[in-house]
Amino acid sequence: MDRLVGVKAYGYDWCDELTVPQAAERMVRQGIDWALVQNQLDPLPGSAVDQQPPENGYTDRAFREALGDKDIRVFQSTSVFFDPSDFARHPDLRPIDQHGRVFEPFGWYVGVCPSDPKRLQRKAERIAEVTSSLRPDGIFLSFIRFPGFWELWMPDTPRADIAEYCFCERCLDRFRIETGNDSRDPRTIRNELRAEWTAWQCSVIAETAGVLRAAALDVDPTVTVLLNGFGLGRTDFGNAVEEVLAQRFSSLDPYIDHYELMFYFQIQRREPGPYISGRVREARQLTSRTLLACLQGGAEYLEPEYASGHRKREITDADFRAALKASTEADGVLVYSWRDLLADPTRVTALLDYKNDSL
Ligand SMILES: [Zn+2]
Repeated sequence: MDRLVGVKAYGYDWCDELTVPQAAERMVRQGIDWALVQNQLDPLPGSAVDQQPPENGYTDRAFREALGDKDIRVFQSTSVFFDPSDFARHPDLRPIDQHGRVFEPFGWYVGVCPSDPKRLQRKAERIAEVTSSLRPDGIFLSFIRFPGFWELWMPDTPRADIAEYCFCERCLDRFRIETGNDSRDPRTIRNELRAEWTAWQCSVIAETAGVLRAAALDVDPTVTVLLNGFGLGRTDFGNAVEEVLAQRFSSLDPYIDHYELMFYFQIQRREPGPYISGRVREARQLTSRTLLACLQGGAEYLEPEYASGHRKREITDADFRAALKASTEADGVLVYSWRDLLADPTRVTALLDYKNDSL
């Protein structure tokens, strides 16, 4: 495969400057092959992006068709377990941590418990509707994990400080029924039964991916599925990618065509080079699916409430190029987000150099 370049194009602020056809044309000039977009049938909850499309001719269908006309593959995004409105409306979806505490939202992130089959069914129906109405090339499963605000995990964060979910009644019931383990004590589960618990959690996430995949493929068997994964390996926070977030390649692979791993090096306060290349290599040994390194295009989490992270205030051209170089063992890169490419031509130059193998 040639080096693939994709972009997370959420938000509608570009509409202030570009028409829909101009947006597609711009992506072509930026070397973009895949666009991860949002839609109003299954909208992404508000994080930091503008969620309301303008009323000047933008429609999800027009955007999708304009990108398709330029041979850009379109992935419609769905937020699987980040859902402030379900959190507010359904107390039984509020996650419970290892100390019995109910999840308390901080910042924009609001996770919900992943084990409710009824909610999963509602999500599957929504995905079928999106697939039928917008005819995407793919579905992007984002926030598909047990709850964790991993953007706040700094390199010096001890594992003991990371909350683990979910010990709600429904999760404990399912763990007992599906594994035959009777204990409901989080301490026992996290120690003696750790391997069984982690495998069960990973199976819940994989099964979710399978149900959502089937919903899309029932409508259009050519759709492929891209999963929102993490730039974390076994040695990061005691294998938190499996033990806290519950993503395991061997469980997910049957249902996933492509993975994007979020290497948000400025948010995570890591040096992009060794951090990215090591974890791409590790992932490469664990899956043969498409692997995309998702790179930050601009600095984030600079608001006062995140000051304890002591993050750099900017991403330099050298940082971005180092991140691209470190991604060469992946099948391609994604950039989060398209806004950064529109705002900074040096990012586009670097991206094209990556794509043309002339970094
Ligand atoms: Zn639960």
